[in-house]
Amino acid sequence: MGHLAPLRRPLRSMFETESLISDFPILDQSVNGRRLVYLDNAATTQKPMTVLLTSRHYYESYNANIHRGTHQLARMATGAFEKARQTVARYLNAASADEVVFTAGTTAGINLVSNILALSGRIGSGDEVLVSALEHHSNIVPWQMLCQRTGAALKVIPCHDDGTLDQQAFHEILAGGRVKLLAFTSISNAFGTINPVVEMTRAAKSAGALVLIDAAQSIAHLPTDVRALGADFLVFSGHKIYAPTGIGVLWGRADLLNELPPWQGGGEMIKEVSFEHTTYNDLPFKYEAGTPNIEGAIALAAAIDYVDEIGVEAIHAHEMELIEAAAGALSPIPGIRLYGPAGRSGSLSFNIEGLHHYDLGTLMDQMGVAVRTGHHCCQPLMARFGITGTVRASFALYNTPQDVEALAEVTAKAAAMLR
Ligand code: PMP
Repeated sequence: MGHLAPLRRPLRSMFETESLISDFPILDQSVNGRRLVYLDNAATTQKPMTVLLTSRHYYESYNANIHRGTHQLARMATGAFEKARQTVARYLNAASADEVVFTAGTTAGINLVSNILALSGRIGSGDEVLVSALEHHSNIVPWQMLCQRTGAALKVIPCHDDGTLDQQAFHEILAGGRVKLLAFTSISNAFGTINPVVEMTRAAKSAGALVLIDAAQSIAHLPTDVRALGADFLVFSGHKIYAPTGIGVLWGRADLLNELPPWQGGGEMIKEVSFEHTTYNDLPFKYEAGTPNIEGAIALAAAIDYVDEIGVEAIHAHEMELIEAAAGALSPIPGIRLYGPAGRSGSLSFNIEGLHHYDLGTLMDQMGVAVRTGHHCCQPLMARFGITGTVRASFALYNTPQDVEALAEVTAKAAAMLR
């Protein structure tokens, strides 16, 4: 299978931003006559050449449907797909690759868990499902739907004004003894808050709840060790970690996933089908009905290998320097309010008094700086702060101190133009 691997770079021992930037061909362009400064990484990351080549190589050389194929291409595609599962399992420190279910993304993973929990009868009337004030809509709405189906109640851990979760309130809710599931994010996509995931997971588990971690944001910024975390489920999207859209992962504890019912029915998820009776496949196939995103899974493994070569800790340290510098550089702008606590990861959100975030973002784009504006799919969080949205700059491994300078300069200019 050696020829399946596209070009690989030698292992990098240090963080070389210049060489990293040249790994991302899309960054080499100008927008409105200025060098593109891409600071919308919390929405989606750009893809390095190794990922682009992996996708292309798959379609050029061994595209075939996986499993059950006797021919050469099917064997190659199956081998690469299952190897990708092992790469993900290794990155997550999962006990087994069988615990890695490929999905379309974070949203798909959460909906899968929500549906199988509803079907299982484990959650019912009088029970509580607990989320946090920081959640993305995709970690709220599927649980509301579960509550509607089962009669359970949705509870929310409130947050403080600095965008950290109210741990005392969290413990009080747990002490009520009704929480059957805690679903929360490891890093807030809106404010960059890093939640104390291990402590919160431990507390919820000792209160008898299942725990799902939305790792959509943390997957590319912090090391992920599902065994150390002690949670039951963890979900993420490939496109937030330099892989294509349309691929993601649900990791779940094998004993639990074995016990829970399947959800979507179809090919792959069965052992035997007759019109009278169907027996279901083993993990992970039980949860992978239909033809999966084969190329996406293989490209995700290439992205993970790429991140691993650099080292997620080194990436995190680099991004933390940038985000702290950005917070410092933006602070002097008159009327600015930064959201989230110091020590945020990935995202830096702000508003400037009297100006609309959308107008600011539009002007910033005209000056070559790509940021996101709006509610960031966190309307309840925005409501908590009495705002309709923010400007959000979010960072990735290829961002530089020059990007931070450009952000500060362009934000100040845009604010001055709007005044
Ligand atoms: N949760 C968080 C914390 C996110 O940042 C996102 C994407 N912005 C999602 C969930 C949803 O991810 P996707 O749209 O890839 O399913």
